[in-house]
Formats: sequence, structure tokens, C-alpha cells
Amino acid sequence: MGAARMGIGAAVLPYTHTDDLFIDGAWVKADGSARTLVTNPATEDVWGSVPHASAADLDRAVSAARRAFAGTGWRDLAPSARAVYLLRLADEVEKRAEAISHTNTWENGSPVAETSRAASNAAAIFRYYASLAPYMETPDIRRFPDGSAETVVRQDPVGVCALIAPWNFPINLVVAKLAPALMAGCTVVIKPASPTPLSLRQIVDAVVAAGIPPGVVNVVTGPGSFGDALVRHPQVDKVAFTGSTPVGRSIAAACGELLRPVTLELGGKSSALVLPDVDLVEMSKVLIRTCMRNTGQTCYISTRILAPRERYGELVDMVTATVQAAALGDPMNPTTVFGPVATATQRESVAGYIRSGIADGARVTTGGDVPSGFDRGFYLTPTVFADVTPGMRIAQEEIFGPVLSILKYTTVDEAVELANNTGFGLGGTVFSADTDAAFALAARMDTGSIGLNFFASNHAAPFAGRNNSGLGVEFGREGLHAYLKPQSVHRAIRN
Ligand code: NAP
Ligand code: MG
Repeated sequence: MGAARMGIGAAVLPYTHTDDLFIDGAWVKADGSARTLVTNPATEDVWGSVPHASAADLDRAVSAARRAFAGTGWRDLAPSARAVYLLRLADEVEKRAEAISHTNTWENGSPVAETSRAASNAAAIFRYYASLAPYMETPDIRRFPDGSAETVVRQDPVGVCALIAPWNFPINLVVAKLAPALMAGCTVVIKPASPTPLSLRQIVDAVVAAGIPPGVVNVVTGPGSFGDALVRHPQVDKVAFTGSTPVGRSIAAACGELLRPVTLELGGKSSALVLPDVDLVEMSKVLIRTCMRNTGQTCYISTRILAPRERYGELVDMVTATVQAAALGDPMNPTTVFGPVATATQRESVAGYIRSGIADGARVTTGGDVPSGFDRGFYLTPTVFADVTPGMRIAQEEIFGPVLSILKYTTVDEAVELANNTGFGLGGTVFSADTDAAFALAARMDTGSIGLNFFASNHAAPFAGRNNSGLGVEFGREGLHAYLKPQSVHRAIRN
């Protein structure tokens, strides 16, 4: 069991240590005996744990989803009827905003300024997908081009979906999959990332409170190898994954062999292309959110800044001063901008990139070390590198921590080429006082999403990584279609 409400200090943490998985509408004891420990990255204290599901647990969860897909009538409801559930779910999630925020912050160190928005953002995603009911219910009838007959294009839910999420936004990167899957009439088995298995339990509680039928949503916990078993399970019809590019490739390979549809949202190394007419004061106001959101642990942020030669010095000074001025500290403090990074492994990985930048001759303008005054917690000082050249690892690889790389360009053509030379293609930004020029430049950037003078994702618009950043689309109507399969019914023309 686990819903005993527990207050630890000022934090609201309804779930801490648990033996349970959520299968077929109930919390059930896991079969497996191994456990994953949950560590607070700000203190290094272990405060929670979850079981590793066994192969038998996995079968139980997938079978429950299969039965619910076949038998509860969930898939047979009209989209507008499923939308009612999604709207209730949105309300139930919002009621749990504080527990979601605190649990998430204790799991991965994301500042509460960030996690306090997780519930309302998740609710907005559920509401957006609910709003697509009229679109789903509009008949799609297409004439044969020669006028001889017509085709009714129906949409069926793809079936049982495996949803696998990373630790950086443990609520929203699940809900980005769960909302369209539910709206489509699918059933799901969710595997959260090992560092962040507990905040998701608030979503499960909301699912129960919203009256979603048993078996439609199942949650199992376990290590990466368990995620692999879920991906390959014979009763799974589709996989949706957000995480690193190497794991995404291995999932794509498995799904390729099985001819199983897969959506992959992977890593990024996006550029902020700064044009010479930039307003640096305006840019400084959005810099952290656009380029270092969530202590640099956001897939789409513009972590490499392409600076025009004629404004280079000024720009480096602005970025350095802005990063220095942002508060680093306890993520439970509402004014904290930079918290610890999520795990010890992540800190070591980011520190390795900092060492490589220094070894390659980039210039540290701020940070580059472990901050003083923090003997506990996975803290790193937010770091800015100037004089970065395109061949350096810190210019090419995803660092996924509080590190910015500033490169210099001479012509706009050169800047575009630099922006497009990482192998990734997820986010990006153009900074310019001339929004028409910025818009025109966006079309030359080989990336799935790009912001003009800011970056934020829009639930109503497709989010799709290009190249090594992924396959397929989340969000928007396109993201709904990832959970639907069309059927064309040809018939004589009816008037
Ligand atoms: P990760 O190591 O790829 O893990 C992601 C998820 O996959 C976790 O639940 C993980 O489980 C599981 N997993 C690990 N190995 C697996 C396997 N062989 N088969 C199936 N599942 C497996 O990524 P992460 O370290 O959690 O997250 C950071 C990465 O996510 C970054 O590269 C970042 O760019 C990317 N990301 C992308 C987006 C996007 O939308 N494009 C958004 C956010 C993050 P365990 O945790 O138990 O190992
Ligand atoms: Mg990982």
C-alpha cells in the first residue's frame, strides 16, 4: 500500500517506500525482490524505494492492458465520452499539484519553481487532447480522384502502448504520451525512469479518482533491462519513448525487427543563433529558460550560443553575468533557479564535459567547478564556456547539465551551417530585433521546433526531433495520430 500521507519537513511526500505496482486498477505487491532506491539529489539522502517488477509482473500488467483494450469498452466510447474522463483527470491532477511538485523535486532536484508548474502543465495537456473530440468525431470522407466512389477514413486505436519516460520531467513526459493514448482509446503500461518513480503515483491516483476503468492505465517499475522487456513484450502494440539517443536506437532496432510502431523523443544539442541586431537586455530575460531550463536538463534547450563576431564580447559578458546572477541552491526554495543535477552519475558525466572543454582550450567565464558551501548534494556551478570551436565535444555532444557553449561566427551562412552540424535537430532559437528576418532564418535550421526570441513548447503544435533527436511526433493532432491507425472503407458515393 502506500497512500499514507507523510510530511517530511515542509515537503508533502505521500509515497516514499512502497512494494507496489499499479496493475488492473489496483496497487498490487510486486513479485520481484530487488528494489530501486530514490535519492534526494539536494541532500543525497535515500528517502524512497520501489520494487523491480519481475517478468511475471510484466506479463500481469501487459495482460491487464490487453484485457482492458479488448473488454472494458474504453476503445468503444465516443471520443467525446473519453474526453469527459480526460477533463476529470486534469482536475484530479491539479488537486495533487503540491505532492507532485515536492515529490518530483525530491526525486530529481528540479527546483520547485519548475515542478510547481508540473500539475497545471499536465492538466493542460489532458485538456488539449480532450478538446480534439470534435475533430475526431468529424467524418473523414474522401472521393476517389476519378469520382467513381468514396472512402470513409476511420481511425482505430493502435492497442496496448508501452510508455517509457526519462527522469528530467517525470510527469510531463509521461502525460505527453498518456493523454493522446487515452484519447485515442488505447490502454497503456508505463515505466518511469529509475530516479523518478514516485511522483508518477500522483497521476495514478488521479486516474483512479477520475474513474478511468481498471487496466486502462498500468504502472510498473524496474531498471532499463525491464524497459527493454516491456518494449519487446509480444502483447505490446506500440512503444513511445523519451530518453537518450543510444537507448532510443536500441528500442528502434527492437521495434524494427517486430514491425512495431514506435515514437522516439531523444537527445538534442540545439543552437541559439544570435543575429547582430539582437537586443541583449531582452535576451538576458529569457536566457536561462531558453538555454538552461531545469539546471540544463531539458532536451530542447539552446545550449550552444552562436554569437556574431561584432557583438561577441558583449554577448559573452551578458551571458556570464546572467548565469552568475541566477540563484543556485536548495531546490525546495521557491527563488532557486539552479538546483543540483539529478544523480551522482549525471554530475560525473557533466563534470567530464567541463574537463573536456577546458582540455580542448575553451575559456571558462564562470563556473567550471563544484560550488563551495555544498558538502552534500549533486551540485555543479553553472558554467559558461567562451571561445568554443565547432570540433570540440562541448560543441557537439549533449551535456544535459548547467553548461553553455558560446561559438563565434562571421557570416549568417556560416552560423546556419554551424547550427545544422551537430547531428541532432530538436529545438533552437533565433534572437533578432527583426522578427521577419528571424522567421526566414528559422526555415534554414534543420530542426523540429524553433523559437523566435524565446523557446517554449506548445501542446497544440507538433514536437518532433529530426536526425538523431528522434522519430515521429508528440503533441498536436499529429501526436494523437501516433496512437491511431487508419482504416479506409471504400463504398459507393452517398449523398
Ligand atoms: P535514458 O537512459 O535513455 O532512459 C530513459 C528511459 O528508458 C528510462 O525509463 C530508462 O530506465 C529506460 N531504459 C534504459 N535502458 C533501456 C532499454 N535498453 N530499453 C528500454 N528502456 C530503457 O535517458 P535518461 O538518462 O533517463 O534521460 C536523459 C535523456 O533523455 C537525455 O538524452 C535527454 O535529451 C533525453 N530527453 C529527450 C526529450 C525529448 O523529448 N526529446 C525530453 C527529455 C529528455 P532506467 O531509468 O531504469 O534506466
Ligand atoms: Mg539513463
